[in-house]
Amino acid sequence: MSEQTLSSTITRLTLLAPDSTCSTDLATNPWDTPAGYGPGASQEDNIPTGYPVQGGLPEEYKRASDEELDTRIRAARETLGERAVILGHFYQRDEVVQYADFVGDSFQLANAAQTRDKAEAIIFCGVHFMAETADILSKPEQAVILPNLAAGCSMADMADGPSVQQCWDELSELYKDEPDDGRMPVIPVTYMNCSAELKAFVGKNGGLVCTSSNAATVLAWAFERGRRVLFFPDQHLGRNTAKAMGVPLEKMPMWTPRKALGGNSEETMREAQVILWHGFCSVHKRFNPAQITKAREDYPGVRVIVHPECPMEVVDAADEAGSTDYIRRAIADATEPTVFAIGTEINMVNRLASEYPQHTIFCLDPVICPCSTMYRIHPGYLAWVLEELVAGRVVNRIQVPENQQGDAKIALERMLAAKP
Ligand code: SF4
Repeated sequence: MSEQTLSSTITRLTLLAPDSTCSTDLATNPWDTPAGYGPGASQEDNIPTGYPVQGGLPEEYKRASDEELDTRIRAARETLGERAVILGHFYQRDEVVQYADFVGDSFQLANAAQTRDKAEAIIFCGVHFMAETADILSKPEQAVILPNLAAGCSMADMADGPSVQQCWDELSELYKDEPDDGRMPVIPVTYMNCSAELKAFVGKNGGLVCTSSNAATVLAWAFERGRRVLFFPDQHLGRNTAKAMGVPLEKMPMWTPRKALGGNSEETMREAQVILWHGFCSVHKRFNPAQITKAREDYPGVRVIVHPECPMEVVDAADEAGSTDYIRRAIADATEPTVFAIGTEINMVNRLASEYPQHTIFCLDPVICPCSTMYRIHPGYLAWVLEELVAGRVVNRIQVPENQQGDAKIALERMLAAKP
């Protein structure tokens, strides 16, 4: 690849027009003008009802310059020493990730939360469900802190407790007369990206949690114990994983919440092997096969790797599909300079592009689409929670209700035992 082509690719990644964002929340293009979506800006966002409410960020953090915030974060971090650990998700913005002691995907961060048992506080720079998971897996005396409570996950919000319970009740009624062959009629499996309430639900009902790293292992576990799987909230991860394991598409009906039998006939549901919840990631849903065709035209020989939260047609058209950690390792392990077209969140793709300059790495989607909910964690919020800790105050603590802790932990421990 010529230097000019490489530089135009990088330019494409970093200098998009202000209106080239996928989310109206980010219409001011935060990449070039962070002040347009600065600390406190998420308080203007439309947050789903029932979500934890983030109180006002003190003015001093809204007004502080990037340099001042950097100085204050580093000073607080030094004062706290080993009393605090900062965890950052791969999709988190660089301005925040630079302060993380450990960066990883949700599976790795769940492990990290469990093993950092010396820290009194775990500051989780990810989204709400990840912080809940850290709270379940960490010691009771450790405080898990989410710097901005508005950092949620749109996919996790697509499956709620009452809707899943209603689905479960309908399925239990439908399958109650099936002959007993020693297996459960249906095993519930939830993707990590869900509330603690739903993790507790699967733990209580003989199921477990999966991540994108271990979904196939988890489905194999479930098929050994049940005749079917109810998979939520991400239809795409469920479909892509089950399809790769040989489950025919016609045996994977979609369950649309609040419709009788999820909008399916009794016969379809009796024949089902994997029942897919109607949920998706708004970031990964944006990828399409035409982007892959274009990448192959522009860069013959390009290696296309996408995340399994992408639609099935995208996974089918790609060379490989895998978790964020799979993508990272594939690039790290490439010994020859390679052109990679990646189908996942832009913060991670940009970071990989700068960490591995020997390769050409670009995002399949030419329109910037960060995980806009994770983006709500600004360094201003990080400075605030750290300085509060220095002052002996814990703010924004995430605490899973006691009645969900036990069952959710069972579901998570089953997952952690099922190695990727
Ligand atoms: S990238 Fe998608 S699934 Fe992941 S946290 Fe963001 S909205 Fe949720």
